[in-house]
Amino acid sequence: MSVVEQAVAVGGPELEQVRRLVTEIPGPRSRELAARRAAALPAGLTSAQPVFAAAGGGGVLVDVDGNSFIDFGSGIAVTSVGNSAARVVARATEQLQQFTHTCFLVNPYEGYVEVCEALNRLTPGDHEKRTALFNTGAEALENAVKYARMATGRTGVVVFDHAYHGRSMLTMAMTAKNTPYKKGFGPLAGEVYRSPMAYPYRAPGGAERATADALAALRDLIDVQVGADQIACVVLEPIQGEGGFIVPSPGFFPAVAELCRERGILFVADEVQTGFARTGDMFACEHEGVVPDLITTAKGLAGGLPLAAVTGRAEIMDTVHPGGIGGTYSGNPVSCAAALGVIESIEQEGLVERARQIGTAFLGRLREIAASSPVVGDVRGRGAMIAVELVRPGTTEPDPAAVAAVVKYCQERGLLVLTAGTYGNVLRFLPPLVMPDHLLAEGLDILSEAFAAL
Ligand SMILES: *Cc1c(COP(=O)(O)O)cnc(C)c1O
Repeated sequence: MSVVEQAVAVGGPELEQVRRLVTEIPGPRSRELAARRAAALPAGLTSAQPVFAAAGGGGVLVDVDGNSFIDFGSGIAVTSVGNSAARVVARATEQLQQFTHTCFLVNPYEGYVEVCEALNRLTPGDHEKRTALFNTGAEALENAVKYARMATGRTGVVVFDHAYHGRSMLTMAMTAKNTPYKKGFGPLAGEVYRSPMAYPYRAPGGAERATADALAALRDLIDVQVGADQIACVVLEPIQGEGGFIVPSPGFFPAVAELCRERGILFVADEVQTGFARTGDMFACEHEGVVPDLITTAKGLAGGLPLAAVTGRAEIMDTVHPGGIGGTYSGNPVSCAAALGVIESIEQEGLVERARQIGTAFLGRLREIAASSPVVGDVRGRGAMIAVELVRPGTTEPDPAAVAAVVKYCQERGLLVLTAGTYGNVLRFLPPLVMPDHLLAEGLDILSEAFAAL
């Protein structure tokens, strides 16, 4: 058996937990596939890493040339319980053998109901809740807006600078960054209004004033520019993901929820990236005791199978007429089985607590790196959702070239890291929560060397 065949045969959590490079990066097999890809796929569909995957599990990803990488990305916060996690595979396999699809709009099944019950139980707040399932994060956001509009009879949607909510026609308008997400794809959906983010590192009036200034701007937008009675919902990520892992300055997130309550506007927490133990709480809202009216989830929900959800107050969710919501594949039975395996893994393996431990390990090492590297402008994050923002030394000017150099250095040494940020100058770390300590430490050593080499 070749190295790759072995890796595939023992995929999932059984995969040997080592970093091992056996070819140059990318290797010959990845280069061959890249050539086929270039001839078959459109140019605008790109990948951050040049290596084709063969197997994944625990804290590693093995490529088609047999190289084993330490994975600090989890496929963008998706495989939090590990790739091909045992409970996910067992439940999904069983479901695959029973039936793969009926369409929930045609014949319902128990797995869908069970996932909704679990989300109603796990999401913040003791109020009566209902959940509806979808396929992608963007689709969940689209539907959260539909529910909010129906329940309030209003149309306006307020979002923030640096927000990311997806790439569909509505969510593209809700997403802040033009390139690559919106450029040339307009006209954009209307009735979307944007307010400044309380971004401590880049607050125009300084970090101490970040909350007060951003709140004043939001109040002005709501009360003066748009009119509270025109606004269905305010949508905010508890920690902004694609925008650069921006942790809002203290008090901002709960104050936005409170302002919404006072104005009769629904508060939607977009936990597509922050959800499912990632930030050291089951949901990031819990950190500041916020109970949103609606919460959107996806990424970490089903261990890599497509599944997303909107969970909300029963009286909001029940306003939509029969048949008003749904989709052919929404809440696919195999995805539902996988989600139940994910939830069981998080609860049984103590992954909420594990995310906190990972956060402590990362923040400690990254602060050491920051102390000796003048390109590190900011270190931030919570739990296993951590980032560093790179700038030209002595300024706050974004340095995306330094980020690219660190990513390349790490990749060539067998460590996969992702980038983010409105200015492309943020390195983000989202390791699978099941990554063993020795791989975390080894990855952080490589990262440290990468900064020293800049
Ligand atoms: C990824 C993401 C989305 C979009 O999810 P897709 O499944 O890619 O459509 C929406 N909101 C947040 C916060 C995200 O991180």
